[in-house]
Amino acid sequence: MTTRSRGPNADVGLRADGLSAIDPNKLRDDFPILHQEVNGRPLVYLDNAATTQKPRAVIDAISNYYLLNNANVHRGVHTLSQRATDDYEAARESVRRFINAPSADEVIYVRGTTEGLNLVASSYGRKYFSAGDEVIITGMEHHSNIVPWQILGKEIGIKLRVVPFNDDGELLMDEFESILNDRTRMVSVVHQSNALGTINPINAIVELAHARGVPVMVDAAQSVPHMPVDVQGLGADFLAFSGHKLYGPTGIGALWGRAELLNDMPPYQSGGEMIRSVTFEETIYNTLPHKFEAGTPDIAGAIGLGAAIEYLESIGMERIAAYEQALLKYGEERLRGIEGVRLIGSAQEKGGILSFYMDAAHPHDIGTILDAQGIAVRTGHHCAQPVMARYGIPATVRASLAFYNNTDDIDALVKAIDRVIEVFG
Ligand code: PMP
Repeated sequence: MTTRSRGPNADVGLRADGLSAIDPNKLRDDFPILHQEVNGRPLVYLDNAATTQKPRAVIDAISNYYLLNNANVHRGVHTLSQRATDDYEAARESVRRFINAPSADEVIYVRGTTEGLNLVASSYGRKYFSAGDEVIITGMEHHSNIVPWQILGKEIGIKLRVVPFNDDGELLMDEFESILNDRTRMVSVVHQSNALGTINPINAIVELAHARGVPVMVDAAQSVPHMPVDVQGLGADFLAFSGHKLYGPTGIGALWGRAELLNDMPPYQSGGEMIRSVTFEETIYNTLPHKFEAGTPDIAGAIGLGAAIEYLESIGMERIAAYEQALLKYGEERLRGIEGVRLIGSAQEKGGILSFYMDAAHPHDIGTILDAQGIAVRTGHHCAQPVMARYGIPATVRASLAFYNNTDDIDALVKAIDRVIEVFG
């Protein structure tokens, strides 16, 4: 791969933490898409929780694969196939390193977090759950960590138990402890809420769950892109994330699981690649990770994901986290200063999500006004309708941060909200 030479500018410098931890203005040069006008204004991209923009390193890695190395993986002796396989597997090793997994065999390529959650619910759940069993989730889950368990619940007769949260958006851990019981078979919890920004105490959750022998699945869609995530440090059993929220391509993500659990789980999908041998009478499954990767995978996507990880490593996740935390604080202060703006989600431990509600205007109308100023935010329920119901609101406006955002972006947002107030009074 020729991606390393296209990393971020080398001279960002290891300076103090906070807003000077990185230089977003230099890093923006790595993202061609950010240098454009939208509706006659410079683009201010604040929809990073939905998907992030892609650095040139990722775009180049994908196009180089198609320009130079395109071939199917694992099955060919010819040179292109070997190159494609090497790059595809090198990217798996990058994922392993990035999340500090013990082995690359425990890293399964999936389409994204949604597929990772469905894989575990479907494969682990069908094998180990029976009627009367319980799965614990939280009240701030994305729909992708609700619906797969619900469907399984209807099929098998398992019950979904939900850990509530307080007005600030913090989990009520006492409630968690009280609903954890002998019938609990799985705890599946979001690491960082996409609607509130809350960062949940995974270590404490794992400790309580493991004390009862219950495995823990972590939805890390919003955490892996914004902070160092170490699966061994978290102590969890499964963890899934999406490439497209990690500055990589869409259609690719990873599920990590403990080998001893994955080895005992049945395949999720079946067909080519996931087998060792097939007769009409019997199929012997392949070893990890191939057992869970039926069919031709998203080879370019995996290579793009590997490039995204190398790019992020060259900046450093600690520095990214420190910078985004400082930018979040700046954003919260500015938004709190506007009368009529109600921030939704103010947990002590929180990532770069600025979700807000205004009585004066519907979130969709606010989003339209912001778009006219070149500002991209998301409005709606953010696939977390129970969170909206908890606060008694239909939707929020959500500005979500990345390391390429700066205080000017926040100032532009604040100015555009002033315009909303002018229009709607
Ligand atoms: N969980 C969370 C917390 C998310 O924010 C998202 C995406 N918005 C998902 C799961 C689903 O991710 P994907 O659509 O990439 O599968």
